Amino acid sequence: MTADTGHTGPIAFLDLAAQQRRIGPALRQRIDTVLEHCRFVMGPEVQELEDRLAAFAGAKACVGVSSGTDALQIVMMAENIGPGDAVFLPAFTYTATAEVPLVLGATPVFVDVDPLTFQIDPQSLRQRIADVRRAGTLTPRAVTGVDLFGQPAPWDELRAIAEEEKLFLLDDCAQSFGGSYHGRKLGREATATTLSFFPSKPLGGYGDGGAILTDDEERAELYRSLRTHGEGKTRYEVLRTGMNGRLDTLQAAVLLAKLDGFEEELARREEIARAYDAGLAGAVTIPGRVPDSASAWAVYAVLLRDEAERGTVQDRLKSHGVPSAIYYPMPLHRQPAYRPHHDGAALPVSEDLSTRIMALPIHPELTDTEVARVIAAVRG
Ligand SMILES: *Cc1c(COP(=O)(O)O)cnc(C)c1O
Repeated sequence: MTADTGHTGPIAFLDLAAQQRRIGPALRQRIDTVLEHCRFVMGPEVQELEDRLAAFAGAKACVGVSSGTDALQIVMMAENIGPGDAVFLPAFTYTATAEVPLVLGATPVFVDVDPLTFQIDPQSLRQRIADVRRAGTLTPRAVTGVDLFGQPAPWDELRAIAEEEKLFLLDDCAQSFGGSYHGRKLGREATATTLSFFPSKPLGGYGDGGAILTDDEERAELYRSLRTHGEGKTRYEVLRTGMNGRLDTLQAAVLLAKLDGFEEELARREEIARAYDAGLAGAVTIPGRVPDSASAWAVYAVLLRDEAERGTVQDRLKSHGVPSAIYYPMPLHRQPAYRPHHDGAALPVSEDLSTRIMALPIHPELTDTEVARVIAAVRG
């Protein structure tokens, strides 16, 4: 996986074609099996994947669904989150985290993040819950902790706050499946954990897909019902309003093939992150680590001094064939779609990060030579 080819051409930000060459035979065999049995919806691969994912995370149950966004929606539907409810979530995350409460008629309440780990800030969360209670118009209902960029959110603190405030706790683990917290794999830190298999996530499929992990068998049953139109014991018994939220068989087959090499990929990502740390410390601010945790390294993001320096460095990287990306150029409370729902609270860290953050390529197919080229280009 680390063999150096000596190429000097452009480096890929994400190299799904190289990964496909590596896992090709297993992948094709998995796909052929589905083409033979033709059970394209809820075929045996879905259950097999659910079992494997639950075992991987040490969770009691796993429910495969159509995307990470639908996973969030199903979990919130199961809690009857809707109009008048406040759902607390970080301002510095992907849009889907905030979109789902709004789709259900609830209101996202944006929370600031830590300036070095980029994870939701428990102190800001306490403040924002107090803000909502004081305003008195919304009922605090849930906290969506996001494991951002591969690292875990500060779950000990989030759990304490959720318990104290009697809030439902959800882990949006779309980016971070494979990461761990206090030595245990993510998937059991909250009442429910949602995963995404969007192709660019650490465990990515060849299309959309997602899953929900939980230790609560009753909730798992509810999630299974909700993903299939709220069905009961038979297909034509409708118990509740649900949705078409199933994971399709072909995606499950692809993910089963990818799961076999997943731990190795995680180890390679960690190796690259350490090389970046060592090579970049001093030149830029390297990502802070959540104590006693391991990252799945969906994203390796550094901080520049300001927006101008970021522009200069990005241009230099580009001229060296090194790609970079900005997650996220705008915190969610500033987005046109979400601004009208924001109470106006200042979220200075999220605002500052969006001007200075820059992500470097980190995928298992990167060679040591390419990693060295990235480091040299950043250092200038
Ligand atoms: C990708 C992502 C989602 C949504 O996942 P999809 O599978 O694309 O619907 C949700 N939350 C976060 C934090 C994400 O990064």
